[in-house]
Amino acid sequence: MERKPVLQVCRACGKAYYPRKARCYCGSTEFEERVLEAKGRIVTFTIIHVPPAGFQPPLKVAIADFGVVKILGRLEEGYEPGLGDQVEALERDGVVFLKPVS
Ligand SMILES: [Zn+2]
Repeated sequence: MERKPVLQVCRACGKAYYPRKARCYCGSTEFEERVLEAKGRIVTFTIIHVPPAGFQPPLKVAIADFGVVKILGRLEEGYEPGLGDQVEALERDGVVFLKPVS
């Protein structure tokens, strides 16, 4: 099952986190949840040719900037990433994927 990531947003200062934190850098522990609807852009990526056990090479991972947060995620097989590519973030079985927006 795929779902959009749920961000944790500080009620005191508005900073967003993903993954979750127990305490905001401002000291607050009061958060609300917000589904990430925005599209992001790839700001860096790497291709791992010698992945950990259990993963098929090449394993591609990237960081995308969604404005309020940057998210680290895996890229789908067959997708050749480029800097600036527009992507959406989706969680599937607890793993975050960054999928190109067509
Ligand atoms: Zn805060």
